[in-house]
Amino acid sequence: MRRVTTPWFVCLCFGFLFSQISFSQTSSQHGIDLTDLDRKADPCTDFYEFTNGSWRAHNPIPASMTRWSKRWAAGESSKDKLKEILETAAADKSAAKGSKEQIIGDYYGACMDESRVNARGMEPVKPWFARIDAARDTADLQKVMEDMHDILVADPFALGSQQDPHKPSWVLADIGANGLGLPDRDYYLKPEARFKEAREKYVLHIAAMFKLAGWDEKTSAAAAAETIMGMETKLAEASLDNVTLRDPAATDHNTTFAQLQAMAPHIDWAEYFKHKQLPQDVDMNVDQPKFMQELDRQIHADSLADWKVYLKWHLLHSTASSLSAAFVEEDFAFYGKYLSGTTEMKPRWKRCVESTDQYLGEALGQKYVEKYFPPEAKARMQEMVRNLLAAMRDDILSRPWMSDDTKEKAMAKIATFNPKIGYPDKWKDYSQVQIRRDGFFEDVIAGRKFVEQDDRLTIGKPVDRGRWGMTPPTSDAYYNPLLNEIVFPAGILQPPAFDMRAVDAVNYGAIGVVIGHEISHGFDDQGAQFDYLGRLRNWWTDADLKQFQARAACVADQFDNYFIEPGVHHNGKLVLGESIGDLGGAKVAFLAYEKSLQGKPRPADIDGFTPEEQFYIAWGQFRGDEIRIEAQRLMIQTDPHPIAKYRVIGPLSNLPDFEKAWSCKADSAMVRAEGNRCEVW
Ligand SMILES: [Zn+2]
Repeated sequence: MRRVTTPWFVCLCFGFLFSQISFSQTSSQHGIDLTDLDRKADPCTDFYEFTNGSWRAHNPIPASMTRWSKRWAAGESSKDKLKEILETAAADKSAAKGSKEQIIGDYYGACMDESRVNARGMEPVKPWFARIDAARDTADLQKVMEDMHDILVADPFALGSQQDPHKPSWVLADIGANGLGLPDRDYYLKPEARFKEAREKYVLHIAAMFKLAGWDEKTSAAAAAETIMGMETKLAEASLDNVTLRDPAATDHNTTFAQLQAMAPHIDWAEYFKHKQLPQDVDMNVDQPKFMQELDRQIHADSLADWKVYLKWHLLHSTASSLSAAFVEEDFAFYGKYLSGTTEMKPRWKRCVESTDQYLGEALGQKYVEKYFPPEAKARMQEMVRNLLAAMRDDILSRPWMSDDTKEKAMAKIATFNPKIGYPDKWKDYSQVQIRRDGFFEDVIAGRKFVEQDDRLTIGKPVDRGRWGMTPPTSDAYYNPLLNEIVFPAGILQPPAFDMRAVDAVNYGAIGVVIGHEISHGFDDQGAQFDYLGRLRNWWTDADLKQFQARAACVADQFDNYFIEPGVHHNGKLVLGESIGDLGGAKVAFLAYEKSLQGKPRPADIDGFTPEEQFYIAWGQFRGDEIRIEAQRLMIQTDPHPIAKYRVIGPLSNLPDFEKAWSCKADSAMVRAEGNRCEVW
């Protein structure tokens, strides 16, 4: 499923895994994992290999995963715990209708009833197809599209909520561009062989899905696939690229209803807004006006028959995982195997756990934190966040290139940072969601309708600061510049990111750098454009802004030179925000750790490693993972995060504290030459 999301939501992004809970370590000296180290590697030459080379050598990536590390392994094994919660709920026949136990239990139970799902084949989507077939004109087709938008089939565009970047206390209606089945616009347009091949395989995949849905194999399925490719290519040409999408100004278009009508006159917006139960004078933003204009042109120019095929494709594509095995397998063959490099699907129970988390996340999450989230973890995190914010404050104040004026504004921003830890204070109410044991497809539809409505009902109202953008079991973290908040779900506050039994050096080196990373997002190339109230408003003097941009350009240039295979390298501008986050995070977390030691006896070395070395090893071991080449190619193209290897090597090779901790020679590979060294914060 793809959703239109705000481009300003920046995260640590592990791919929404879940982390395990294990406090089995009892030694007060528990720290780094010595057996993970590759002692043959020199830490000053390849710190990534040194910290986790042995672990990776002994733990190949499982067939169903694209990436693998202790952290990924922990995330996968923690799904066992969610499975246990869901199996218990599914077995509880006495759960009251509308209780979270009934809702998650029946959802999971229906998902696990694979024989029923398979016996139904594509029957659940047939009523949708019948409605599309029956459409006599674009007005009829628009009504089907509106209902598809309600179930998160967000094609070719979608309407959702977004905070007003000029008045962040208020929530706008946001119209976002979508409508592509390949990962991004470049897949349609770039001439390189790997994109050309992806286009060919995509057309075959669409045809295969249509064939499963009853199209004739030789003619109509293939012709329909070509039609879709043609329509999506035109939409791709009118879409912004990934780098431009990171620029908040590029998607900032306050738009009135009359302007929207003029932009895309072949859509009946009065009808659309009525369907969405939104007044026409609602405050609104259109992310990509050019896309909407091109879409409107296509609505006018392309035949009704073509649009029918287009909507059928996106319905099938979006719901494939809720249909019978043939659809699930074909969908996996293209997106899982071909584009991501995995060779096996995850077992069904795991996919059912993930699906429950996706649509009923806070109902499942509430049960999860009741059972597995220790309150003392929250207290320890609050202390670390305080220390990290104080270190960031000191660091900014000591920047010689920044004027007092800009420093004062930065201090105001530090002062309004809002940390959220563990889980929401107020849970979403799922009691009206109709979930049944005998219809998995219908349950997915109900879950999606809930997600859509839960979002839509926030539009045209003051922002609710209590809402969370991730579910509690998620092992990830994020920064939202419009709320100036850093958010750490319960799922990440577990080993190996965060270990209540570990020495401070290890926690500062792992979760501490994560905290520093999220704080630094407030001052990365995007975050720095938002002020202390979350407004998209310049708070920098011209001279300071120039200095900052030159420093950021150094980081972009550094990552432009990191290759995954000959000719294929990171796009420095795409990964700039995350790389500034890592560089600032590693630096500030180290400062916070040093500060935490002041006035205390120096901690002992562990197995010959100083506390400073332990700190850096912790980052290398937490962050480092092995990743398939296909997944690397996909990341390089579409993900604002660098691959793990460069998230270890990249920031650390810029840091004088790292060089000092490991006594690296000035000409070591892990020490960037003086003139090339990047420092933003
Ligand atoms: Zn991030």
